[in-house]
Amino acid sequence: MRLSRYFLPVLKETPAEAQIVSHRLMLRAGMIKQASAGIYSWLPLGYKVLRRIEQIVHEEQIRAGHIPMLMPTLQSADLWRESGRYEDYGEEMLRIKDRHGRDMLYGPTNEELITDIFRAHVSSYKDLPLTLYHIQWKFRDEIRPRFGVMRGREFLMKDGYNFDIDKEAALHAYNRHLVSYLRTYERMGLQAIPMRADSGPIGGDDTHEFLVLAETGESEVFYDSQITDLRFGEREVDYDSVEECRAVLQEFTSRYARTDETHDETVFHEQVPEERRRSARGIEVGQIFYFGTKYSDAMGAVVVNDKGERVPVHMGSHGIGVSRLLGAIIEANHDDKGIIWPEGVTPFHAGIVNLKQGDAAADAACEGLYKALVAKGLEPLYDDRSERAGAKFATMDLIGLPWRITVGPRGLEKGVVELTSRWTGQSEELSPEAAVDRLAQIYDGH
Ligand code: ATP
Ligand code: MG
Repeated sequence: MRLSRYFLPVLKETPAEAQIVSHRLMLRAGMIKQASAGIYSWLPLGYKVLRRIEQIVHEEQIRAGHIPMLMPTLQSADLWRESGRYEDYGEEMLRIKDRHGRDMLYGPTNEELITDIFRAHVSSYKDLPLTLYHIQWKFRDEIRPRFGVMRGREFLMKDGYNFDIDKEAALHAYNRHLVSYLRTYERMGLQAIPMRADSGPIGGDDTHEFLVLAETGESEVFYDSQITDLRFGEREVDYDSVEECRAVLQEFTSRYARTDETHDETVFHEQVPEERRRSARGIEVGQIFYFGTKYSDAMGAVVVNDKGERVPVHMGSHGIGVSRLLGAIIEANHDDKGIIWPEGVTPFHAGIVNLKQGDAAADAACEGLYKALVAKGLEPLYDDRSERAGAKFATMDLIGLPWRITVGPRGLEKGVVELTSRWTGQSEELSPEAAVDRLAQIYDGH
């Protein structure tokens, strides 16, 4: 993409309404624009990152054997009356009447809709296990939408639902989700810690929230400092293996880590030596639940088991806050100049800054780099505007591309360009070909 032809409405001023750094930076970098309270338009740069995050979520879900689909945003109230949640859900649910006076709602989550699909089409244990998921917009009429996309009213969520023959099988699905979530967040450059949580309006006993530690997080968390040393890393897991998934769950959840709802000071003191006790703030970027037969009992989702008996199916639901993740990633990765994207989610792989637009050699070198990067499957953003170098650097720093190639007549005389890391600020002089090869190597596997 050439910046002169892109739509990147960068703001010079710091927007007064934004209280936290990720919100400020998303507005300043021209990623989002508020449409109304808690509802945002995703401008091209923000949309690109949103799609990158969504893509990682899809890849990891599919890797875990979960099946993508798409359910609508608008749902009939009837299904929610069956589960009893139409009344229970309260003011957060946006209720709508259609022209025939029928009660509709903008889905805050999809347990009812998916259970209705399941009961219409599945009747035998032979069709289990089954996990279906989608990535779809949700609406929750939050009393105080704030912090930009972190607590919106309309937000994008991946929600997945497992259907299993019994509790044991459903707990495997739970563990499998935990493993897939660990992989998902790490690919985005985030450490999200699973913490025992409270189940809230979804219901059920087993639930973990995934929290990214950040000062601006809305949740108070308590944990054993050893937990922050854990990394999922490059390990390959066989998602069908009950033992392997359980072992990962045990590794990541055996130390104390809880949100304020489940925190117990006495247990904390018993289990964790004083020097390892930590309390901090965290951003909830996902949650997994096992809730047994709550919805299948209420809605009659029954299958015939291998003995010919009709039994309610065991379920769980699992959510990732796709749009909230943009805020969480920025909270975790920024400096006073702007965003610093992890390579896994960056909107463009590298920026090209032409120090002297209109100089024949500089222009040609930039064009050559651009084409060479594209030929390697990378997406560069070429700042081809006739701006001062300082302004170009400031824009690149603000939008946070992890790598920048700087091209100027003086370097070109020596046959070099400069490759700069947004992470370390360090620059290296390389031939244009070597710079392209280096970037191709860095992004190999992303
Ligand atoms: P919270 O406690 O933050 O209100 P929740 O527990 O009600 O969230 P879940 O039902 O667990 O949310 O939804 C799954 C994920 O969707 C959450 O972990 C979070 O990342 C995201 N999410 C929930 N509410 C919002 C919101 N208002 N704006 C953006 N993302 C949200
Ligand atoms: Mg939650």
